Amino acid sequence: MNVLACDRWSRLVPAILAFAIGAIPIQAADNFIALKAERLFDGKSKAFLHNGVVLIQGDKIADVGSNLAIPSGAQVIDLGDATLAPGFMDAHTHLTLDYSGDYNVRRLHELDLNVSEQAIRATTFARATVEAGFTTVRDLGSRFVGSREFVDVALRNSINKGLIVGPRMLVATKGIGATGGHFDPTNGFRDFLFEREPDYTDGIANGPEEIRKAVRFEVKNGADVIKAAVSGGVLSLADEVDTPQLTPAEMAALVDESHRLRKKVAVHCHGDQAAREAIEAGVDSIEHGSFMKAETLARMKTKGVFLTPTLMATEWIMGKLGNYPPALQAKAKAAAAARSDMFRNAVKMGVKISFGTDAAVFPHGQNAHEFKLMVDLGMTPIDALKSATANDADLFGIAEKVGTLEKGKLADVVGMPGDPTADVAATERVFFVMKEGKIIRKGPPIVQGAVKAIEPAKEGAPAD
Ligand SMILES: [Zn+2]
Repeated sequence: MNVLACDRWSRLVPAILAFAIGAIPIQAADNFIALKAERLFDGKSKAFLHNGVVLIQGDKIADVGSNLAIPSGAQVIDLGDATLAPGFMDAHTHLTLDYSGDYNVRRLHELDLNVSEQAIRATTFARATVEAGFTTVRDLGSRFVGSREFVDVALRNSINKGLIVGPRMLVATKGIGATGGHFDPTNGFRDFLFEREPDYTDGIANGPEEIRKAVRFEVKNGADVIKAAVSGGVLSLADEVDTPQLTPAEMAALVDESHRLRKKVAVHCHGDQAAREAIEAGVDSIEHGSFMKAETLARMKTKGVFLTPTLMATEWIMGKLGNYPPALQAKAKAAAAARSDMFRNAVKMGVKISFGTDAAVFPHGQNAHEFKLMVDLGMTPIDALKSATANDADLFGIAEKVGTLEKGKLADVVGMPGDPTADVAATERVFFVMKEGKIIRKGPPIVQGAVKAIEPAKEGAPAD
């Protein structure tokens, strides 16, 4: 018998046996999976447990502890000298988009790629993200110029139905912003190239009543969270990075309408004035926050508003400045110069910090590098891990289901080598991922080179 045939038999025999004994009811203990590792971070404690065990039954955690007794018949997975942690969460991704290559090539692709093709590409971004250990994300804005499609909603639903593999998603649909602002999809293009001025159906709204209409339209079409751009941004051509883009009255309407519909509000905001006004309006998180002054951070702390720092975004852009037009390079330099001091201040002052990266600005799947950037700027590794687990679950409003390793919660668990408090970059080497009790990854990534495959094709060359 040759090797291939032998291999076929080794797979066939258990299948035949399983078929033969299929009628025998499975004992409850047989459903248990016992995950073991040298260390365990539960998402909330200040220190790790040793000889950690997570017992999983179905999609939930049945028990967690040190040296737990393992039910007979349980499937034991011993990760050895590794650390178990709750599945990581990212409060700021754009899983349907890829801004990581040359800016102008990307803009051209936005015009020539069919939205269906972009949606198919998004399935690889979702897979790269969950394989990196991120089992839940907030997806904060998904727009394709000239298109009415809700690709983020489709991606979330397909993941929930088990059609494709990806993280649990809370999606924002288009996001809401002002005419000519950071979210205006025609920003920087010739006037009327797309034959109409964007309106609330594109997330572009002016005045409190239109803002309410845009919130209602996005919720109607599947938004779980409301995102708005209240100041300028780095990667938009026709605005300044730190100017306010919504009025206090518009922000008040945004927050009131969203909270009435039980949706949290995340605002893209670099500028200090816009941040102050957004905090007073009652937003739930400030995304980026590059130019926020100490007094603004103090107000944030008092009001319990989260900061989602997205350090990865500026880090990536600063490392690839040649990919961006000169006007955007200047904006990126200004934001990068301000954000490190802002972040250090926020950590010192005890502002609530949620883990969020702005994935899409950099290649999907590299989210965990944010941990190292946070620690390099003064956060302890344990606090950085908490930001990506318990803090994000709290901000997302789903802390009763995920974010910590506790009995009764959904079994979202990651395993990384060694001790992340000794070397936080261990988070970038996650080799085990479980989502809702199902093993997504054990060992090397299932989609080899997923991150490489999303790099933009060179002009004239077929995409690989
Ligand atoms: Zn973003």
